[in-house]
Amino acid sequence: EAKKFAGNHYHLYTDELADKDATQPLLEGALRKAVANREFEVYYQPKLHLASGTIRGVEALVRWQHPQLGLVEPERFIYLAEENGLIGAIGEQVLEQACQQAREWLNDGIEIRVAVNLSAQQLKQGDGAAVIERTLKRTGLPHHLLELELTESILLEENSRISSTIHRIRELGVGISIDDFGTGYASLSYLRRFPVSALKIDRSFISGIPDSDSDCALARAIIAMALSLDLRVVAEGVELPQQAEFLRRFACDEIQGYLVSKPVCARELTEQLGQPVSF
Ligand code: C2E
Ligand code: MG
Ligand code: MG
Ligand code: MG
Repeated sequence: EAKKFAGNHYHLYTDELADKDATQPLLEGALRKAVANREFEVYYQPKLHLASGTIRGVEALVRWQHPQLGLVEPERFIYLAEENGLIGAIGEQVLEQACQQAREWLNDGIEIRVAVNLSAQQLKQGDGAAVIERTLKRTGLPHHLLELELTESILLEENSRISSTIHRIRELGVGISIDDFGTGYASLSYLRRFPVSALKIDRSFISGIPDSDSDCALARAIIAMALSLDLRVVAEGVELPQQAEFLRRFACDEIQGYLVSKPVCARELTEQLGQPVSF
């Protein structure tokens, strides 16, 4: 049965790849309309704080609700938006929704930090920090409740615009988190140059826990490094109770993954916040 499923899946995958070039212009046109019609919905995936057993933060993950295609995953359109320049407009809609939602939770007495993913382009635009400052002002979200997730590759770009935007954002009191940590390049010198506040251990290391000795050792080393640099450390892609146990034992601050919850709409997340976490 598993083999049959794998076979089907492979078929779907190759068909999609073959279709990609043909459907790209269509998708691009649809994406432009999506920006104008505000077809993006933000889903939220909780981060469980291990020491307290509570949800203190969520990651905002964009979904595209297309009238015919249905729910489109970011992996199918973010790269396109980065190529055709729509990522700025999409990113602003995501940021606005996420800050608005965190403000609503705060109004209900729930203090939740919200993390928004940013692409390099959004930081290259001269007004990157101004967009964030304006959104915080408009939504009334306290600055420390916003965090931005950037990949290592962005910090390795050596682009002075990106660098100054990141410093200005940090000066606003907004957090900077390194996403997919460990999958970029070997140089860690950017940790000296940038005002980073958290590391997110990439899912590829977490999935090797507990069976792979090297993944276990690397996860422990990243946690130890984060602790000694006084950075918060989050494990992404946690699916198994043994992984959560391991991460708790080595004092990882927060875990995120299907074990706790998949990304869900705001209403569902609000329901989760009222219930004890169990797995
Ligand atoms: P990411 O920021 O590394 O987000 C984590 C991805 O892993 C999410 O996929 C999430 O649904 C998935 N995930 C979470 N827990 C588990 C788990 O336990 N197991 C497995 N197998 N997967 C898990 P998603 O939502 O499809 O997003 C994919 C990527 O798209 C994100 O990776 C991020 O780089 C990008 N993205 C999402 N939203 C935005 C956005 O608003 N702006 C930008 N620029 N990029 C975004
Ligand atoms: Mg992320
Ligand atoms: Mg990630
Ligand atoms: Mg990842």
